Order: sequence, then structure tokens, then C-alpha cells
Amino acid sequence: QDFFTQVPRIPPDAIFDLTKKFLGDPDPRKVNLGQGTYKDENGAPWILPVVKAAKDKTQDANHEYLPILGLATFRKLATELVLGKDASAIALQRVASSQALSGTGALHLAGEMLFRALGGEAPVYITKPTWSNHRQVFATIGFEVHDFKWYDDNTGQIDFESITNTLRNAPPRSIFVFHASAHNPSGCDPSEEQWRSIARIVQERGLFPLFDAAYLGITSGDYDRDAFAIRHFINECGLQAAVCSSFAKNMGLYGERIGLVTFVTQSSDEAMAVESTLEQITRGEISNPPAFGARIVSAVLEDESLRAEWARNLSTMSTRIADMRKDLFNALIKLHAPGDWRRVVEQRGMFCILGLSLEQVLHLREKYHIYMADTSRISIAGLNPSNVWYTAEAITKTVQ
Ligand code: PLP
Repeated sequence: QDFFTQVPRIPPDAIFDLTKKFLGDPDPRKVNLGQGTYKDENGAPWILPVVKAAKDKTQDANHEYLPILGLATFRKLATELVLGKDASAIALQRVASSQALSGTGALHLAGEMLFRALGGEAPVYITKPTWSNHRQVFATIGFEVHDFKWYDDNTGQIDFESITNTLRNAPPRSIFVFHASAHNPSGCDPSEEQWRSIARIVQERGLFPLFDAAYLGITSGDYDRDAFAIRHFINECGLQAAVCSSFAKNMGLYGERIGLVTFVTQSSDEAMAVESTLEQITRGEISNPPAFGARIVSAVLEDESLRAEWARNLSTMSTRIADMRKDLFNALIKLHAPGDWRRVVEQRGMFCILGLSLEQVLHLREKYHIYMADTSRISIAGLNPSNVWYTAEAITKTVQ
């Protein structure tokens, strides 16, 4: 029987494939600037001290199933965290939430929910460039996915005119996927003033904002500051929205797959309907979500001293990333690397697009064992005091 003859062979995911190649490279000089996972100053994965402490507190937990929507304390505390404890939408019970399989699972659940709510007629707009999985997540659900220019490669800055033009011309009810902070891959976020203008157009045109919140807290070191756009849209403008939060980067819980999807609706009746739909979707897909990560996050969020420790850990990570940006920039300037490198220090968050050609990227990989995405996006967290000079030298020799 020809059961599988029609199945196409799909090429491997570019970023996971890059990690595999890096891991298989025996050269001791190798540098991994591919995947966006935080590493400490020795290039090692960092278990946040707050997570160690929280894990100790969860040791006695049993191994029963969680409810379909996830751990109730986690959902409550994580919703308050992202919207702000005093958000009127919470007081008015206009919020639906569900635990999700990290940020990706939250995006998927949000997409499935919106597809049921709006049918296929509402297009999804994603930024160009964007995280490599956005198109796939929404296209797989059945949405028509459009992209719009977010960032100008020539200037290394946000293209605000393109953003506002796209918003003004999109049909009402279009879904816009915004990166809440630290746009991946460009590291270019709107200013607060620009976010205010974006919110105004979203409101005027009847668009639906969906925030991908994968880097809250690790962008600036201050969670509340990084949540500005989300809270402005929802709390100040009273907009309906979806927020997809991940605790992968900001708690270092990559493999635990812990995230949250939050919908803010017009009424508590709608919120209950949305929550019941999220519940049904999850029951059909994974029955109920995993418990471990949810318990860790809850243990952190319900304890004032652990929250304070988390704030310090966020600051450690974001400060180290900012320092590495400065070190890379200073090294490139010292080495007289041809080009304008200001973007390295001007952009925010984990990522920076260096603006190299594919040929140069491959040269860096083959000759110097420095691994970055084909687009020349680098994960700054892969740099440390031992490899930043070597990396700057290799870049300089490659662009000369
Ligand atoms: N969204 C963006 C912009 C990301 O960069 C990532 C991870 O790199 C995610 C979502 C999802 O991450 P996770 O599913 O591991 O939480």
C-alpha cells in the first residue's frame, strides 16, 4: 500500500538545524549566535537563582493532571503580571486565559480561537522581518497571512511610515501580530509615542491586536516597562486584544514549555465564552497542559521575596546583553571594521541584524566557526568576554 508516497519531505527548521551543526562542530573556537537562548558569561545555560529556589518549593507536588485550562494560580498570577494587577479588564472579568505550551503554544491557541471567532475572512498581518515561526503558526490554522515592512535594513531602524500605512489600509477586523518588546529579529521597537499612534489607528480602523510577548522583562530588565504597549492598548485605550506570554526567556524555562494566552473581550459573557472555547480546543489537542513549569512560575509570582529575586535576575540578563552589545560595538570600531555598526548598540533585546550578505554569513560559519542565522541575525546572548573580540575580528576580516 502506498500510504506515504504523497508526503513531501520538509527541509529542517533553519534555526534548530543551525544549533545541531554548532553542537556537532568540534572546533574549540566555535561561537553560537543562532538560537535566542540566554547564556551566562561562560557561554553556559543559566538556571535563574529564582527558579532554583522556586523548584525547591514545588518538590512535594503530586503528579496528577492539571485542569484543562492549566494551573489556576498560574493563570491568575500570570494574567495580573502581564496586564497589571489593577487592570480594569480584570476587575470587570473581561479576561479569558489559558495556560499554553510556551509562547508558541499561546500563539497557536490565540490563532485557533480567532479563527473560530472571525472565520478565515480576517487576514493576519505579521511584520517583515519577523520570528521565523509566525507565518507557519497562523498559515497552518488556515489564515491568509500578509507581511508588512517593519524595519528598514538600510537605516537599521523601524519603518514607521510603512507600519502606519499598512494599518490604515488593512481591512477592519484584520489581526495584527505585534512584538510586545524587543522585536525579533530587528531589535527595533516603536517609541511610547509611536505605540500610542499605532493604538489610535488600531482603534479607529477596528483592527485586532495580538501581542507576542516573548521578551517581557528581559528587554529592559524591568517587566512593567517592557509591558508598556500591552497595557497602553488594553488599560488606557480599552481595546480588545490577545496577549501570548512566554516564560522561556524571562525565567529561562525553555524546555518546560510554559506560557499563557490572555484574551481581553468587551464583556464578561464574552470572556466566559472565549475561555470555554479555549478549553475545548486544548482538550482536543493535548487534553491538559504540563504542570512543572506552571508550578515554578506560580511559586515565583506568589512570593514577594522571590519576585524581587526575579527582578534582580532579569536585570542581570538584560545588563549582560546590553554590555555585550557595547563590547561588540567597541571592538568593531577599534578594529576599524568597515560599515556603520551603530545599530548594534541602538537596537534592543537579544537580537541584532548585522546586515551581512549570505556569503559573508557562510564564510563566518565555515572559516571561523561562528554560527548565525542566514539573515545575519545574531543572538547577542551568545557573546561573552571570551569570544566577543574573536567574533569582532572575524566579522572585520570578513567584511574587509
Ligand atoms: N515569539 C518570538 C518573537 C520568539 O522569538 C519566540 C522564541 O524564540 C517565541 C515567540 C516562542 O518561544 P517559546 O515557544 O519557546 O516560548
